[in-house]
Amino acid sequence: MSPSQMGINHADVRKLTCRSGRSPSVSGRLGDNGGMTIATHERYAQMLDAARRGGYAYPAINVTSTQTLNAALQGFAEAESDGIIQVSVGGADYFSGQSVRDRVIGSLAFAAFAHEVAARYPHIVVALHTDHCARQYLDEWVRPLLRHEIDQVAHGREPAFQSHMWDGSTVPLGENLDIAEELLEQSVKAHTILEIEIGAVGGEEDGHSAQIDEKLYSTPADGVKVAQRLGLGERGLYMAAFTFGNVHGAYKPGIVKLRPELLGDIQHEVAEAVRAGRVTSMPRAFADSWRDANDGIGGDEVAAEKPFALVFHGGSGSRPEEIAEAVSHGVVKMNVDTDTQYAFTRAVAAHMFEHYDGVLKIDGEVGEKRFYDPRSWGSEAESAMAARVVEACQQLGSAGRALK
Ligand SMILES: [Zn+2]
Repeated sequence: MSPSQMGINHADVRKLTCRSGRSPSVSGRLGDNGGMTIATHERYAQMLDAARRGGYAYPAINVTSTQTLNAALQGFAEAESDGIIQVSVGGADYFSGQSVRDRVIGSLAFAAFAHEVAARYPHIVVALHTDHCARQYLDEWVRPLLRHEIDQVAHGREPAFQSHMWDGSTVPLGENLDIAEELLEQSVKAHTILEIEIGAVGGEEDGHSAQIDEKLYSTPADGVKVAQRLGLGERGLYMAAFTFGNVHGAYKPGIVKLRPELLGDIQHEVAEAVRAGRVTSMPRAFADSWRDANDGIGGDEVAAEKPFALVFHGGSGSRPEEIAEAVSHGVVKMNVDTDTQYAFTRAVAAHMFEHYDGVLKIDGEVGEKRFYDPRSWGSEAESAMAARVVEACQQLGSAGRALK
C-alpha cells in the first residue's frame, strides 16, 4: 500500500519527511570504558544533591525496548548529562516479550542490558528507576525487585535499580504513607531511593487514567504530614512527586492549569514546620560524601530551604517558564515519556513515507532490503529520540554538568 492509497498525497509525504528531526552527531567520546556508568547508590545521592543545590533537574526517560534505551543513553552522552532511565509497569511487561509479560523478568532484563551497554559511556552516570507502581502491582513488581536487590547488596553487589516509585496517589494519604514507610525501610536495605507520589496526576499512562479535578493539587499540609511520617532523609532517602496540576500524555494548552508555585509553598511550609518544631527531622543532603566535601558551604543549608527532592510528572506540553519555576523549587527529576515517544515514532513515520516503495513490496516488486532492515529505520528513530533527550537536558539544565 502506497501513501496515496492511504489517502496521503506526495506533497504531504515530502512535507513530513522535510520536517523530520535533526540528526545529531554522536559525540566522539565512546569507547575508553573509564568506569561505571550505572550510578552507585552514593553517586546517585550525589547527583540528586548536585541538582538540588545547583537548581537543575535530570530528565527521567521512559524506555520500553533496547532501542529506546540506547537512544536515551545516546542522548545523555551527547548532552554530557547524567540522567535517569526508567521503565513503567507496562514497559517492564513489554520488555519481557509480549507472550511472556512478566514485569520482574522484563525489569531485570532491562537493567542487565543497561548495565552492559552503559559501560561504554564513560563520561556520564545514569540511574535506573521503576516508574509508577500502583498498589495492585506492589506484590508482583516492586516488592520482588526490592527483595532481589536486598539479596544483591547482602552479597556485596550494587542493586539492579537505583530507585523505585511507589504510586499511592489512588489511596488515602494515611495509607499511602503507611506503605511508603514500609517500602522506605526496604529501600534502605536495598541501597535504593524511594519515590513517592502525593495527590493524583491526571490523564492517561499505560492505559490507566485519572480524573482531571481538584485532587490534582496537593497541599502544604500534605507536605508536613509526609515529613512527619517519613523524615527528611535520616530514615532513608526518598524523592517526592507532589502534584500541582500535572497530567500524563499530551494535552493542548489551557486544559489544565499547572501551579508550580505550589511546590515552593510546600517546601516553605515544611521548612517553617522544622523551625517551629512541628517536624522533628533535620533536612539533610542525600550523600554523606557531599556533606564532607562541602563542609560549611551548605549541602544541608540548601536542604533546609528545599527539604524535599521533588519529581515532576506529566510535564509534556508544559511551557518552558512553568518547567523552570518547578525546577527552581527543588524539582530534581522530571519524567519525560510522551515527547520522546513521539520523537521516536515521528522518525519511523518519516522513513516509511519517504521510502514507501522500498519498505513495501509493491506491484510484484521486491522492495529494498536497506530500507526495511529494522536497523535503517531504527537508527533514525533512535537519533531523533536522542535529540529530544538532549533538548530535555538543555531545558532542565543538566546538559554539560555530568559529574564525571
Ligand atoms: Zn508519572
